Amino acid sequence: MSLQLTNTLGGELEEFSPIDPGHVRMYSCGPTVYGATHIGNFRAFAFPDLLRRYLEWSGYRVTWVMNITDVDDRIIRDLAAAGGTLSELTAPHIARFMADMSDLRIGPPTVLSRATEHVPEMAALIATLVDKGHAYRADDGSIFFRISSWPAYGTLARLDPSQARVGERVADDDYGKDDARDFALWKGPKPGEPSWPTEIGEGRPGWHIECSAMSMKYLGPSFDIHTGGVDLIFPHHENEIAQSEAATGQHFVNVWLHNAHLQLGGQKMARRVGNIAKPAEIYAEGYSPAVLRYALIATHYRAPLEWGDDTLDNARAAVQRLSTAVATLESYAEARPDAATLDEAVSAARDSFKTAMDDDLNVSGALGAVFDLVRELNRRVDARSLSTADASRAAAALRDFDRVLGVLDLPDELPEGAQELLDQRAAARAAREWPTSDRLRDELAALGVTVEDTRDGQRWRVTTRGSNG
Ligand SMILES: [Zn+2]
Repeated sequence: MSLQLTNTLGGELEEFSPIDPGHVRMYSCGPTVYGATHIGNFRAFAFPDLLRRYLEWSGYRVTWVMNITDVDDRIIRDLAAAGGTLSELTAPHIARFMADMSDLRIGPPTVLSRATEHVPEMAALIATLVDKGHAYRADDGSIFFRISSWPAYGTLARLDPSQARVGERVADDDYGKDDARDFALWKGPKPGEPSWPTEIGEGRPGWHIECSAMSMKYLGPSFDIHTGGVDLIFPHHENEIAQSEAATGQHFVNVWLHNAHLQLGGQKMARRVGNIAKPAEIYAEGYSPAVLRYALIATHYRAPLEWGDDTLDNARAAVQRLSTAVATLESYAEARPDAATLDEAVSAARDSFKTAMDDDLNVSGALGAVFDLVRELNRRVDARSLSTADASRAAAALRDFDRVLGVLDLPDELPEGAQELLDQRAAARAAREWPTSDRLRDELAALGVTVEDTRDGQRWRVTTRGSNG
């Protein structure tokens, strides 16, 4: 079986096949940088990252483009309050976003493109739409897309075009429109607002046009996959399709994938609701980025992720189970013949993992396959029925699953002073000085290092992580 994905365009589960054999081109709507990005936002970036990793694991080359919206109405509102320049305002938010992405092992995307660095491309696309009669100018220099010129409008969201509502994002752009449904491609200059001189005049882009301009610049007029949160289907993605296809005359995107929201207390996590949690706050509570990543990816992307009191603890237990299994296998040594049935167990797990992921990224099924194998390997380790070479092959198999999951938590760096304590403790145990050994175990725990005694000696793992701000 090959990969099947649920395409929002048409609403069916479809067999995935890239336009260029062996090469997948995908685009994800990225963050608007007007404040810290919260974990609900990161769900929408962890999901395409999981997909990207799975495509690579399956042998595809992937070109993944994500945008950064660094100019929009909310940023301009903040700029009016804060003063300074646009880039002074957005730079710290962009830096924080990149650091959070790296901690969460998301990407980096092949191209991470900023709206403000692509204004000429947006202006050129708008000029084409005006030339072709799909867009018109208002008196104030704004330019609107004429929805009545595009009969296919509403196909993605399955709207009746005559019923299409004016979206939240364009509600304040009414001035100068011929039709309430039309949306702003370009906004005329206003005193005190940033604007750019371009071939279509002075002004700034509307929000929707940036994703068409940047995706097509890096991926071509037709590409394979476009992702985003469900809230972007209408009007944002509907508008992207209309303005891209009206300009190029070509089919824009083959597969549209949308992730459901992260919910806290029964509501979508959102800044306007006020129920947001930032990654740094979660790390300050002692959960590692790998644990947060696990919590973000372990629920199927099309199902709402209900964030509960036990979400992170469950994720931590799973991450530790997997990480401990790898650490155990990698330090295991037993001089005995290879186990006859190990490769069979590993390849059965790999088949189940692939079957589940091929089924619209059924991640719970895939994790089930991984943890069934972990249980089986633990049993064999306890029975000492593996050879040293078996154990190392088994560890490599678990690490291979982690190329897709990205959740192994095996810090190779101990906190300062911990190695000394571990050495002293090993010596104390060799001398059967149990009270000393126990005291050293407590001192290590205070440094965030948990020690376990195994037949192969003491094994440690770093269980807490200090706040990283
Ligand atoms: Zn977008």
